[in-house]
Amino acid sequence: MTQCLFCRIIKKEIPGRIVYEDDDALAFEDINPQAPVHILVVPKKHIDSLINLTKTDKELMGSLYLIVNSLAKTRDLSQTGFRTVINTGPGGGQTVYHLHVHLLGGRQMTWPPG
Ligand code: AMP
Ligand code: ZN
Repeated sequence: MTQCLFCRIIKKEIPGRIVYEDDDALAFEDINPQAPVHILVVPKKHIDSLINLTKTDKELMGSLYLIVNSLAKTRDLSQTGFRTVINTGPGGGQTVYHLHVHLLGGRQMTWPPG
């Protein structure tokens, strides 16, 4: 059995509040939301982090951002705007080593991030 938390959510071994699914990707609510909308969009293929991306993942990454685009629209974030984040490695604050895009919205974001 895989130890990767997000692979286990993808395989439905542990529950997730899934908001979107297709053959290649899954989106689910973050368990510890940092904004009124906080969704994680993940590839079903296990990729540790952005630094491990290869050319074969080119189309997959585009698909993840199209899912973000679609979810942002259905969550009424088109006008207000939103933030997408990929934390990478220890210095980037990554805690789960399965590539994921954070979609954050529904409040004013600040800059610089913490
Ligand atoms: P990161 O720090 O960028 O690696 O983000 C990992 C995210 O996964 C954090 O925002 C966590 O709140 C979230 N998270 C951890 N466990 C779960 C879970 N079981 N279901 C949904 N989100 C989770
Ligand atoms: Zn994984």
